[in-house]
Amino acid sequence: MKTLVIGAGIAGLAAAQDLQKAKHQVTVLEAQHRVGGRIHTERSFAAVPIELGAEFIHSSQVPTYPLPQQFGLRTIHFNQQEDTLVRLPDGSLRTIAEVGCEQRGYNNIRLVDWPEAKGEESLAEYLNRNQLCGQRVPYKLQEYISDFDHPRRLSAQAALEFLYDKSAEEGDYRILDGYD
Ligand SMILES: Cc1cc2nc3c(=O)[nH]c(=O)nc-3n(C[C@H](O)[C@H](O)[C@H](O)COP(=O)(O)OP(=O)(O)OC[C@H]3O[C@@H](n4cnc5c(N)ncnc54)[C@H](O)[C@@H]3O)c2cc1C
Repeated sequence: MKTLVIGAGIAGLAAAQDLQKAKHQVTVLEAQHRVGGRIHTERSFAAVPIELGAEFIHSSQVPTYPLPQQFGLRTIHFNQQEDTLVRLPDGSLRTIAEVGCEQRGYNNIRLVDWPEAKGEESLAEYLNRNQLCGQRVPYKLQEYISDFDHPRRLSAQAALEFLYDKSAEEGDYRILDGYD
């Protein structure tokens, strides 16, 4: 059977691989000049691969976790909560864990019962409905948005599941050889 896959991001490539295993004759159509979509490793200006898109394997619980070992790629484990500095609007630098402490009792995600998402609403609709904007968006959610997509294109339900997911506390793995 002949099958056309639209888009050579990781979803399209994975679908093409599965279809090929199932003996389909697969063609992948990609609109850009490169494959990978939101996975975009840049090697032109530094001695190490620089990730312009996806960078981390978020814990050992995600489906991408076994892949580096399968392909013989080196990873390094670290905890962004403790290691990653963020610049606050007043210019000061804090670790993510420190930002979490400062927000406690105000909008720390672990201490607040977040309203449930309604049906298929987007994250943007959810934030507007609950009057969460600017500094009132908890850091972990800001990170989620910058990692994935515009809130208009993200599912509120999926974002809340991510925020409550305890496996995130395990830390992240970075693929030293490049995510692509
Ligand atoms: C800055 C950033 C950081 C991220 N960090 C992480 C991270 O640390 N860990 C993690 O797990 N995830 C991370 N993500 C999310 C991850 O990159 C995405 O979830 C994943 O790459 C999406 O893959 P996809 O194949 O679904 O979509 P995409 O990667 O968006 O691929 C879609 C492809 O389809 C093509 N396309 C679209 N329409 C057409 C058309 N009509 N015809 C032909 N081609 C078309 C596009 O050009 C694109 O190449 C990050 C994303 C960003 C942007």
